[in-house]
Amino acid sequence: MAPRNPFITVVVTGVPGVGKTTVLNHVVELARAEGLRVLVLNFGDFMLEEARRRGLVEHRDQMRHLPLRRQLELQEYAAEALIKAAAARLGPEGYLLVDTHAIVKTPTGFWPGLPRPVVEKLRPDSIVVIEAPPEQVVARQARDTGRVRKDVADVDTVREMMAMARAAAVASAVLVSASVYVVENPEGRAREAAQRILELLRGLR
Ligand code: ATP
Ligand code: AMP
Ligand code: MG
Repeated sequence: MAPRNPFITVVVTGVPGVGKTTVLNHVVELARAEGLRVLVLNFGDFMLEEARRRGLVEHRDQMRHLPLRRQLELQEYAAEALIKAAAARLGPEGYLLVDTHAIVKTPTGFWPGLPRPVVEKLRPDSIVVIEAPPEQVVARQARDTGRVRKDVADVDTVREMMAMARAAAVASAVLVSASVYVVENPEGRAREAAQRILELLRGLR
């Protein structure tokens, strides 16, 4: 069998602004109500902490503009640090959800968020792809003024990224024998998307 973590591990992906972080907040709430031990960790937080420590960036939306060799170093660092943090907090009864990206749009091409060294460290049982109509993703990005997503903000770009994101999720899943689980996040219904993810978690046990 492909290596597994003691806890169930699910990597959650989707284009910028589709609603990963929002849906995962609902997952935490719903899981707690059911008494499930769920931990959500944001991969970008681990990359950002190290990128700032090295003086490479000031905020998270600058990281995808770094040279790819730098991004790869940060990804490998983040994967290791994240799994270490999870292992310190979760037993075999737990569920780890990683808030991240299967594909990253960079000035030098589409870059895998889960290349072999990264996905082999994370050891997911499943890779979730959150999706929504491209027009809604653009509208969500526009409303969410706390982030700088201008480079990924028009409908054609979002549509292209969604196709690449699905393909990238499958490619990464093949490397570690994970399933790919597509979840719709329709307008105003993030809680229902969270319910689908809870169903996945229950099914993986
Ligand atoms: P990033 O990859 O950049 O971190 P994300 O996928 O985590 O983005 P969020 O930050 O969760 O996206 O959501 C982007 C915006 O869309 C937020 O303002 C959020 O409130 C809104 N949003 C998320 N899901 C829905 C939904 N189902 N209906 C309406 N608005 C939503
Ligand atoms: P997020 O808040 O999820 O958008 O993450 C912030 C930033 O972290 C993203 O815009 C990417 O630059 C970076 N990031 C997150 N996950 C990954 C990943 N798996 N591979 C490469 N970069 C990532
Ligand atoms: Mg997010």
